[in-house]
Amino acid sequence: MSNILVINCGSSSIKFALLLEDQHFRIQGLAENLGTAEARIKGVTIGEEKFEMPLPHADHKQALEVALTRLKHYKPEAIGHRVVHGGEITEAQLINDEVIQHIKQTSALAPLHNPAHIVGIEATLELFPDLPQVAVFDTAFHQSMPEKAYRYALPKNLYTDYGVRRYGFHGTSHAYVSERASTLAGQKNQGGWLVAHLGNGSSTCAVWNGKSVDTSMGLTPLEGLCMGTRSGDVDPSLHQFLAKNLGWDLERIDKMLNRESGLLGISGLSNDMRTLVEAADNGNHDAALAIEVFVYRLAKSLAAMSCGLPEISGLIFTGGIGENSAYIRERVVKSLPHFGFSIDQNQNDHARGKEIRIDQGQGPQIWVIPTDEEGRIAHETREIALKIAEPA
Ligand code: ADP
Repeated sequence: MSNILVINCGSSSIKFALLLEDQHFRIQGLAENLGTAEARIKGVTIGEEKFEMPLPHADHKQALEVALTRLKHYKPEAIGHRVVHGGEITEAQLINDEVIQHIKQTSALAPLHNPAHIVGIEATLELFPDLPQVAVFDTAFHQSMPEKAYRYALPKNLYTDYGVRRYGFHGTSHAYVSERASTLAGQKNQGGWLVAHLGNGSSTCAVWNGKSVDTSMGLTPLEGLCMGTRSGDVDPSLHQFLAKNLGWDLERIDKMLNRESGLLGISGLSNDMRTLVEAADNGNHDAALAIEVFVYRLAKSLAAMSCGLPEISGLIFTGGIGENSAYIRERVVKSLPHFGFSIDQNQNDHARGKEIRIDQGQGPQIWVIPTDEEGRIAHETREIALKIAEPA
């Protein structure tokens, strides 16, 4: 089994990547603004050549056709689709009518994501009816959480009749980086790891012997940490307060919590950590406060996650902020004074873009591991495709 195409379909965009068998080469691209006059496709081919072309009013299927024409020399042998919400599905699935039906039914829990994934899946099924296609779910890795971690303290029937529970997201990333760190530490999928995936969306995870035992996101990706534009945890009575006192409806509240809050909301400036660090350096109080809230709430969440681990082997940073910001890593470690972490300044300052251990060698380990969600999706897709190619 060689080339695998990985597709991540959003509501108006498609990210695609073709991973060649030896894993060292990738052809990546992005189609964006689909359905509008500004729709276009761009990317990088092997040899680092850039391409970009307008595709006015193209829909998902037309954009995929263009992408796949560009990739035709590298015939994919299977296709892996990133699917945000899989409900209680525990592992990647070979796509068939039943799986498509399940993804559709789960749309109530991920109304922005799952319908877009279905569009992408149906388009690729039409274009490649003979290729095995696999759905890899962001939620699947967290299905190993014990009930005490995934149940809300709400009436039981909301769970049994409507699936109201904590699911968690970023599962492919948490699975990948915890496996990498434990392998590099010489104990593959053993021990207890705290993971901080810090991007525009951020979440923490506790991984014990290779399995997720708790995570900070919940029914939706809004729960948990202070993120780029998402509030993370707030008092659930906030909705009532805003409705009664400001006359806001649910749509307005949802938009505020998902798109106008987090780092952007507190700083009033940006959701981009680089911009905030620069502004804070130049004396901007609100930018400095946004960073402080981000760091403090993250440290609190990691401390809470530690309750799921019998012991702590180490802490892992990943995602755009976790991989690139030595400053945030240092502040987070300093905000966890009771865990015996000690950061090596020099290693921390030189961690950018590579797998590196950044502790001083005493206490729990600290790792920076660049995440590779596409690589993990390709790996899971390849495994399933191999299984069906070689019947027992
Ligand atoms: P997404 O969740 O959209 O995949 P990423 O994982 O790419 O996001 O992370 C985006 C975040 O990473 C942004 O807040 C960006 O500012 C931050 N980031 C990238 N490089 C740096 C850096 N050198 N220092 C601080 N933050 C950085």
